[in-house]
Amino acid sequence: MSKRDRIIYLKSEEELEIIRNNGQILGKAHAEVAKLIEPGISTKELDKVAEEYIKDHKAHPSFLGYDVGGLKFPSSLCISVNDVVVHGIPSNRVLKEGDIVSIDCGVYKDGYHADSAYTYPVGPIAKEVADLLKRTYESLYKGIEQAKAGNRVGDISFAVQEHAEKFRYGVVRELVGHGVGKFLHEAPEVPNFGKRGNGPKLQEGMVLAIEPMITLGRRSVVQENDNWTIRTEDRKQAAHFEHTIVVRKGAGEALTTFEYIEAVLAKKNLTVA
Ligand code: MG
Ligand code: MG
Repeated sequence: MSKRDRIIYLKSEEELEIIRNNGQILGKAHAEVAKLIEPGISTKELDKVAEEYIKDHKAHPSFLGYDVGGLKFPSSLCISVNDVVVHGIPSNRVLKEGDIVSIDCGVYKDGYHADSAYTYPVGPIAKEVADLLKRTYESLYKGIEQAKAGNRVGDISFAVQEHAEKFRYGVVRELVGHGVGKFLHEAPEVPNFGKRGNGPKLQEGMVLAIEPMITLGRRSVVQENDNWTIRTEDRKQAAHFEHTIVVRKGAGEALTTFEYIEAVLAKKNLTVA
């Protein structure tokens, strides 16, 4: 890791306003996808809708062409079904009743990114899986509560881990949250596990993606040979919720929003949390 990679960039109110605006576009792109999540739709179709929505708003999907060591992500969304934790590539795979599907998306506009994710039920799902979604969602907000100036990254990590492990879920170790700004992934890393009072000190103006990745079974994950897809080793389901937030005095303030997603879910009589 180079020195620059370790620098934490504090954002001004003007920069935060750009990220918040991008969060609005992102929340609405998510909602367009949410409308279409039904048995019978392919993950590729969902990707197309999000990409069009983002491009229609003069923005760029952050993940499209995202480069990891020369390997470019081919799509606008990461779509992760059932035992896939994150980084699933949209394909001809068709969603079926009882599945869960995590949609992760980023919007880049005016020089800054916003990043958020939500996991949906596809029609009625098993009670234990519905509980996993609800509690993963709750763990995200437990983390955001701790994202206040004077705390440390470990306070966020601990809060997420404590909530998830209360229910004996697995907390994925290999993937973590991150700073967000001019780059999609900036310092610091924000693990979903850790100790209170450890890690970098939180200051007002730090922008972080907090993103619990929680599993119904064991916490071990493997990567498929497509070089992207991360799934649970035991093939049990995983959930993923993410907000981009800014550290404030009392608690973190979300710069991304689930408001539009949840309006769509309410219309379908579906709720996650
Ligand atoms: Mg994300
Ligand atoms: Mg992220």
